[in-house]
Amino acid sequence: MKNFFKKLGEKIKANKKKTIVISVIAFVTVCIVITVCCLSAFLFNRIATGYVPTDAQLEVAKGQYKRVVIIGVDGVGDFFGKTYTPNFDKMFSDKTVGETEIHASVTYTGTALYPTISCENWTSMFHGVRPVYHGFIFRNTNQRVEAGEKANEKYPSFVKQFLDQYPDGNVLSVCTWRGVNNGVIENDARITKYNSYPADVLQFLENYDDVAKVATNVMTVVDESEEATASTTIYDNIPGIEGQLYDFISEQVKMYGYSDETIEMRDAMTMQRVIAETVNNPDKYQIAYMHLDQVDHAGHSFGYGKPGYVNAVSRVDMLIGRLYAAYEAAGMLQDTLFVLCTDHGHRLPGGHKNHGKNTDLEVNVTFALAGKTVKSGTPGKFINDDLAPIVSYALGVKASDTWQGKVPYNMFTALG
Ligand SMILES: [Zn+2]
Ligand SMILES: [Zn+2]
Repeated sequence: MKNFFKKLGEKIKANKKKTIVISVIAFVTVCIVITVCCLSAFLFNRIATGYVPTDAQLEVAKGQYKRVVIIGVDGVGDFFGKTYTPNFDKMFSDKTVGETEIHASVTYTGTALYPTISCENWTSMFHGVRPVYHGFIFRNTNQRVEAGEKANEKYPSFVKQFLDQYPDGNVLSVCTWRGVNNGVIENDARITKYNSYPADVLQFLENYDDVAKVATNVMTVVDESEEATASTTIYDNIPGIEGQLYDFISEQVKMYGYSDETIEMRDAMTMQRVIAETVNNPDKYQIAYMHLDQVDHAGHSFGYGKPGYVNAVSRVDMLIGRLYAAYEAAGMLQDTLFVLCTDHGHRLPGGHKNHGKNTDLEVNVTFALAGKTVKSGTPGKFINDDLAPIVSYALGVKASDTWQGKVPYNMFTALG
């Protein structure tokens, strides 16, 4: 043995140059292998697995729901699983309503796409592909969609995919963050878009008719040319939640005064608009989307999990309770598929309160479904770009060939 090392030492000495070259090559190879392993683990975590429903399966899915109602909660990450949210729990639990059995599928470990920025993820959720494909990745993406820039046309949103296959269909989208309406969702005369702005809150209070529970000249409609058009009426006389919007907003003003921010009041108006539009016109919209923004604002102001953040999640939960109560009173629970989704979470407070990176609290997302075709329990792996194929399947709409997202395993009874 001693001899062996002695000989080896002599050999190395004799071939010094060769040894250095071999060592460098070995080192570089190990580095490349490690990098490739890390990168593929990172990427693999974000590659969808699940079903692409067949035509026969879509036929079965068709007509099961009158509407899909999507509650988009910006920046809540996995926090629905970490705090007291009785209304979320009620909406997304198994129950029997009349003759109809409703099941719920809930996960708090869905995966947001990288970078964990709003525009990147909402665009992926609507357009079924990862950010490098739809074209919004880094470089002021939130501002760009707010200004009306659209995703790569090769990847239609599930809204467009639905309207292409159902020419008589109608879609509603009400947003507190205007990015989704202005940029993420395509423009089409059959899509009714409203954005809730701070000024709308004041107008609501000023114009409120306490007897009729109606306020005119509030909320801004975003038209096809993406310029704000005339404002419209908002109703506060929905059975099951009568007068709640006025009560909530006037309470908030009493407590905090009116500020430009008013984010929780705008979220309340966003929810109220979705309830009013869908309950007053139960046969009109097959997809109703809403974007609630206060949790993300709280994340930036206070940080993930701080009291201000918890309060924001509680207020959103209260809004979910209003939606549930109104649909229950209107007898609409049975023929609705409820979806709750979020773009990303937030980093733990300490230094910069933000998101965009790859930590667990930014990446883990809540995803919840409740409806009669849903498979009860926890679904298979969910990634944000799966939203488009999930909504499409629920409505019996064929997925776009260009989508990367899939319908996760164990999410719908008929798929398995
Ligand atoms: Zn966001
Ligand atoms: Zn944010």
